[in-house]
Amino acid sequence: MTHATLGFGAMRLPQTDAGNPASIDMEEFTRMVDYFMEQGFNYFDTSYAYHGETSEGALKKALVERYPRESYQIANKIPTWLLRQEEDNDRLVEIMLERLGIEYFDVLLIHNINKALIHPAEAANSFEYIKKAKEEGKALKVGISFHEKAELLEEVFEKYADVIDVALIQLNYMDWTDQRIQSKKIHDLCVKYGIEIQVMEPVKGGTLVNVADSVKRQFEEYSDNSIADWALRFAASQENVSVVLSGMSNLQQMKENCETFKNFEKITPEEHRFLMKMAREIKKTLAIDCSFCNYCVKDCEMNIPIPDFFNLYNSEKVYHLESNVDLYNTSARVYAPASACSECGTCVDMCTQQLDIPALLKDVAKLFGK
Ligand code: SF4
Ligand code: SF4
Repeated sequence: MTHATLGFGAMRLPQTDAGNPASIDMEEFTRMVDYFMEQGFNYFDTSYAYHGETSEGALKKALVERYPRESYQIANKIPTWLLRQEEDNDRLVEIMLERLGIEYFDVLLIHNINKALIHPAEAANSFEYIKKAKEEGKALKVGISFHEKAELLEEVFEKYADVIDVALIQLNYMDWTDQRIQSKKIHDLCVKYGIEIQVMEPVKGGTLVNVADSVKRQFEEYSDNSIADWALRFAASQENVSVVLSGMSNLQQMKENCETFKNFEKITPEEHRFLMKMAREIKKTLAIDCSFCNYCVKDCEMNIPIPDFFNLYNSEKVYHLESNVDLYNTSARVYAPASACSECGTCVDMCTQQLDIPALLKDVAKLFGK
């Protein structure tokens, strides 16, 4: 049996200005696309929303305008949070096709199904819409990207399994038995319903790469494999997984990720046990379990850089660095401090890790003094 392939997730592309998601570094991105294709990979994943709605346009320039359509596959996602009425499905899909400059998607997903966003998707008949889009040839496969507990996924599959070909789920060794993310339960449900699995967040937004020194040492003592290699292999070793998306941000990361898949070796039972142990070790070092997906940021009425603050909080809890305090104070001045949170709750509905963001921001404000 062939193993899962590597997919290029276009949500953490190289930027020329770290503070501006729309400033995609097209030179570096184009180099990455060329390298990826040269190495025999061809699966690209984007969304309406990534990089301040510029990810699709960047893919058009770097990929669509430079390679024949049949040489690559593109997945895109309908922004559930913008659905107000049934007509919005097609209106948004036409915009997505136009931004990419293509006639059809290889995979069309309803984006970020969770307990809040399932409602606009159902009210706008999005499941019926994707079925029709497939029949009309606008997509070869259709499905959902999912960020919620297994219970909701079972409800979704009970109603719509006949429509859904693909589920894009969060799967990594740290969340495998996690009570909140429930990667294994979600994976097993997909297998039970015969749904093809695509994996997002195999390295949990960098959390499984940028580990604390004490954790790094334990990986090094066990083998020479890189830490990223472990995370990708774990995801790609699971049943029904066809694609593992990696949000690669530079050519070096891409080279390493490609090597993992070119020389793929399935995780052995002993290695699985080792990774479960490492998941516990990593959890001990993490104060806030954020995946740095940025979904929460765009609608924050107070303009709080939530993931940046969570990252600084995690670092400060372990390392107690003066630079963390300096960075916090600068961001608080340019954007807003954590204490500015009005507790409106908008971000909570968007959070892919189901975090109680307003409560955690209170911890951040306490640690950094504002
Ligand atoms: S709850 Fe706080 S952090 Fe979340 S969107 Fe509202 S103001 Fe922003
Ligand atoms: S707080 Fe939640 S939505 Fe925001 S970046 Fe972290 S995981 Fe993503």
